Amino acid sequence: MTDDLRQKLDQYVADLFAQEDDVLQHIQNETTRHDMPAISLRDYEGRLLQILMLAVGARRVVEIGTLAGYSGTWLARALPEDGKLYTLDISEKHAAVARANFIHAGLGSRVEVLVGPALESLGQLEGTFDMVFIDADKGNYPLYLDWAINNVRPGGIIAAHNAFRGGQVVNPTTMDDRNMDRFNRTLAQHPQLEGTIIGVGDGMAVAIKRA
Ligand code: SAH
Ligand code: MG
Repeated sequence: MTDDLRQKLDQYVADLFAQEDDVLQHIQNETTRHDMPAISLRDYEGRLLQILMLAVGARRVVEIGTLAGYSGTWLARALPEDGKLYTLDISEKHAAVARANFIHAGLGSRVEVLVGPALESLGQLEGTFDMVFIDADKGNYPLYLDWAINNVRPGGIIAAHNAFRGGQVVNPTTMDDRNMDRFNRTLAQHPQLEGTIIGVGDGMAVAIKRA
C-alpha cells in the first residue's frame, strides 16, 4: 500500500470514528503553545484505545506518559462515571499543562496526574487495573511491561504505543529500537499473555493477560 493511500484510509477511519471535538483540538493547540513535542497519539489511535477499554469494561486504567493529556482524554472519556485514570509523567511542566487540560475537558475528577519517574509512581499505585497503556521512555518499556503483567487483572489489557518505532523494529540501529524489539518479543512469548501488534499508526502492541 502506498503512503498516500495509507493516509487517505487513516483519514477515512478518523472521519467516521474519531472526529476531534473542540476539547481535543484545544489540547493540540495547548501542546504547540507550550512548546511541547508533537508526539501525542493520532485521533484514530485514541479511538482504538477506547474500543479496547470498552471491550474489557475498563474502570481503572493506568497511562505511562501523559504529555498534554491528549491520549488521556480519549482514555478518560471511555471510563464509566466512577472510573479512574492514573496518568504518569516525569515532567512537572507536562503534568501541569495536562491537569489544566483535563479540567477544561470536564474530566478533572476522573483523572489523577502523578509526577515523577514512572517506575517510582507505579510503586505508589494500589490495587489491580483493567488496562495499562504504555507511551513513555522506550528504554523502560520492558520494565513497564513487568509491572503491567503483575498489576493488570486476568482478562485485562496491556497496550503500548510506537511498537514499530517508525519502522525501525525491523532494522534496529539504536538502543531504543532494540528495547522495543525486546518488548515486542516478550509480548509474543510470555506465558501469561496473548498479544499482537495492531498495525495502525506507529503500531499498537496489545496483549490480554490470561485468566
Ligand atoms: N501519551 C501521550 C504522549 C506521551 S509522550 C499522548 O499521546 O498524548 C511521552 C511522555 O513521557 C512525555 O511527556 C515525557 O515527559 C514522559 N516521560 C519520559 N520519560 C519518563 C519517565 N521515566 N517516567 C514518566 N514519564 C516519562
Ligand atoms: Mg507514542
